[in-house]
Amino acid sequence: MNNGKPKIGIYELTGCAGDALLIVDCEMELLDIFTAADIQSFAMAKSDNIDGELDVALVEGSVTTEKEISELKDIRERAKIVVAFGNCAAHGGIQARFDDKEWQENLKKVYGNQKFTHTKPVRSKPIDEFVKVDFYLPGCPVSKEQFLHFLTRMLKGNPPEHYPTPVCVTCKYNENDCLLNNGKLCLGPLTADGCGSVCPNHNIPCFGCWGPVENANAIAELHLLKEKGFSVEEIKKRMANFAGTKLADAIKQL
Ligand code: SF4
Ligand code: SF4
Repeated sequence: MNNGKPKIGIYELTGCAGDALLIVDCEMELLDIFTAADIQSFAMAKSDNIDGELDVALVEGSVTTEKEISELKDIRERAKIVVAFGNCAAHGGIQARFDDKEWQENLKKVYGNQKFTHTKPVRSKPIDEFVKVDFYLPGCPVSKEQFLHFLTRMLKGNPPEHYPTPVCVTCKYNENDCLLNNGKLCLGPLTADGCGSVCPNHNIPCFGCWGPVENANAIAELHLLKEKGFSVEEIKKRMANFAGTKLADAIKQL
């Protein structure tokens, strides 16, 4: 704490920077955020960044290079609380959809025999493969409401909200007609709740951007979708999109 304000660091590993941008996009709240917290490091928003002790580190992006492994470990050593901020940090992101063999093949296809001098690439993985993570804020990107709720709760010393149920639960509360019954490939049963079922609310199937819900049953969803007439390849491709490494084993068995 600094003058009673928590020291916060916001870091970006590999991703689209959408979660960091989301914070900058909190235009009406930005002054309050910078007043209530001591933002020590936030490369997208300020240049006088300090690498010191932190109360909370928000880490966006997945780990895709050896340099990022060292950076992440350094952040973990300096921070009391580490938060996986967004789908890439929490699950590995779209870039983690390949298994080791596919990843090696793709690396070779793109870079050939090029030598890596600055740092060595590694297959994309979520940050909890390398350090202990205290809290997860999923989403691609996280929503503004989710981030502001998290920050407000943290400033009062409370943990973030937990979403143990799938998107289908909110979708039912919202009284939507189930899109599966209308022949659409919806991943609501496998996906962590928290977005307010925004896509099905607009007749668009969920494609899983909040990542897998706890205990997601991919096999049961596969059987259901097969019964609805979708091909196994189509189902696997959709499931692999945002699940990163977290559904990888289940998807291999499909
Ligand atoms: S539309 Fe999708 S999210 Fe809504 S109940 Fe059906 S499967 Fe679940
Ligand atoms: S409904 Fe699914 S795809 Fe749409 S925002 Fe929510 S989790 Fe993401």
